[in-house]
Amino acid sequence: MKNKTIITIDGPAGAGKSTIAKILAERIGFRYIDTGAMYRAITLKILRRNMEFTDTVGIEKLAEETDIRIDFENGSMKIYSDGEDVTEEIRKKEVTDNTSRVAAIPGVRYKLAKIQRQSADRLMKVVFEGRDMGSIVFPGADLKVYLDAGIQERASRRWQELREKGMDVDIEEIKLSIKKRDRLDESRGLAPLRVPENAHVLDSTDLSIEEVVNRIVALLDR
Ligand code: C5P
Repeated sequence: MKNKTIITIDGPAGAGKSTIAKILAERIGFRYIDTGAMYRAITLKILRRNMEFTDTVGIEKLAEETDIRIDFENGSMKIYSDGEDVTEEIRKKEVTDNTSRVAAIPGVRYKLAKIQRQSADRLMKVVFEGRDMGSIVFPGADLKVYLDAGIQERASRRWQELREKGMDVDIEEIKLSIKKRDRLDESRGLAPLRVPENAHVLDSTDLSIEEVVNRIVALLDR
């Protein structure tokens, strides 16, 4: 294997990208980076400052000034925003519901793509998961996967996940929120969610986590 090896996993909300990226990375001795966490961290900072999401100039400036760092603890990725560990807080509903708006702002994408490419140079063997990893940030990646799943399955996985955290949520509400996010991510002018050129499309609707990981490992071995 050559020195720098990049695997990208893109796909819609709730397709299982983070889970798969983490397990795959552990299996093959890579690091994994959840790039959605970076967009969420910027969104959290905007919410804390009570900024308007329409203030694109202000948001671009804020993104430029924010120190986003990632680290790993027992193989799990942690994200730091201006030195503060925000790994848990960025999962809040208010952050989830507003991140797609922030992700459509050019200066935010520019800043985060820069950090992502620097991370690749630093970590060398990385599984990157997000929306534009194989299409825009790493078009020359060694292996590109587009992970999809039916909307019902994606919503019910998210519902299960939230229930396990003790949250009581309506599955129809989750479905609506996922659909809305996908619509925004697919329709933005810059780096929209789409199947990257040369990506292997994997539909995980009827597959277990293990089966998805095995299929990606098989693609790597080819
Ligand atoms: O993956 P996750 O659901 O945490 O991503 C949150 C949001 O961040 C997505 O809905 C999308 O708007 C944005 N995102 C993006 N590009 C990426 C990763 C995430 O635009 N590479």
